[in-house]
Amino acid sequence: MKDYEVKCIRCGARFPKDDIVYTCRNCGGLLDIKYDYSKLDLERIVKAKGEGVWKYRALLPFGDEIKPIAINEGNTPLYRCDRLAQAIGIADLWVKHEGLNPSGSFKDRGMTVGVTKGVDLGVKGVACASTGNTSASLAIFAAKARLPCYVLLPMGKVALGKVAQAIMHGAKVFSLKGNFDDALRVVRLLCEEESIYLLNSVNPYRLEGQKTIAFEVAEKLGWAVPDRVILPVGNAGNISAIFKGFSELKTLGIINAIPRMTGIQAAGAKPIVNAFKENKEEITPEDNPETIASAIRIGNPVNAAKALHAMRSSGGVAESVTDEEITEAQLLLARLEGIGVEPASAASIAGLKKLVEMGEIERDERTVCVTTGHLLKDPERVIQICEPPIEVEADVEVLRKMVRRGR
Ligand SMILES: *Cc1c(COP(=O)(O)O)cnc(C)c1O
Ligand SMILES: [Zn+2]
Repeated sequence: MKDYEVKCIRCGARFPKDDIVYTCRNCGGLLDIKYDYSKLDLERIVKAKGEGVWKYRALLPFGDEIKPIAINEGNTPLYRCDRLAQAIGIADLWVKHEGLNPSGSFKDRGMTVGVTKGVDLGVKGVACASTGNTSASLAIFAAKARLPCYVLLPMGKVALGKVAQAIMHGAKVFSLKGNFDDALRVVRLLCEEESIYLLNSVNPYRLEGQKTIAFEVAEKLGWAVPDRVILPVGNAGNISAIFKGFSELKTLGIINAIPRMTGIQAAGAKPIVNAFKENKEEITPEDNPETIASAIRIGNPVNAAKALHAMRSSGGVAESVTDEEITEAQLLLARLEGIGVEPASAASIAGLKKLVEMGEIERDERTVCVTTGHLLKDPERVIQICEPPIEVEADVEVLRKMVRRGR
């Protein structure tokens, strides 16, 4: 079995690998998986064969004897986006489209690792609170692992495509009278009492899978790093994970710098942006987060401490964008580059545009925006913002007139 430890980022307390623990029993701090990097074989990382998350197995917390619960997660495209770059006024822009994972969001990277760990621990079931994508992802891996799956969704606040996935793949879905933060509070208690494995991003194994976004970006760029990585921030697990991925590559001497980690929140749900700008270590939770970007409608992000560290120590920044800016960016990306994303994902593009206009981002910075989820996750929003299909008789003359008029 591989050498690693589960360690509290605040007080340094360590926990055994077979212990089911999510936050430090000593001080309540977040946990992190720590490897003995001196024992890692570099060749196994830079020359690894295969594709996706498990290609980077040398930097995942499993020995070679473990058989992953996998559905081809990861290995998403990194698109060079010149037309969008020109529209925004920068020179070198890339989009890492995580919407092309098996369930349509980056959550699959974390879930393949988290559910594999759960199976190894011999758990009797898995559960999560979710704004939608976490539940869709957990549902597919639980199905594959043949584990009972329990999902808590905030009532009336989840995009249609995501609910469809969770119920289709056989999760037991509860519609909770409360918001996401309430759902997470309740499911954490449930998991403790019922020996069900919690797979929200407070679970440090989730982040181990998600850090492979950094490995793929670096590898695609020839084991080099972009100047900046921009992504939407909700519970702040993903920005923490990607930062960790780049940090590991730097520790191992594979890359020589870490990109400026730049987190974007919605104007109606921005506790991390507030803490960042006020130079605070701790966030002040927001009681009624509101935004059309439902995947980041979160008032009390669990991974705030890790995310603030990631942005500050990499010279990055946190910024917020309005729902209008998000919608505008979603349309731009869809129509200039052919990349369809859900609203939360477009926050990364909206944030880039705003930071370029503010002069915070230099025009020659090589920038990677991570688009976290697929367009089809939230079809209802599309219907609200786009022109609806035009009804027409089955008559070519009528059609021709309409087409000519529109030209
Ligand atoms: C989960 C999710 C986010 C937020 O990620 P965090 O790790 O919670 O910060 C952003 N966009 C989409 C599409 C998501 O599913
Ligand atoms: Zn601790």
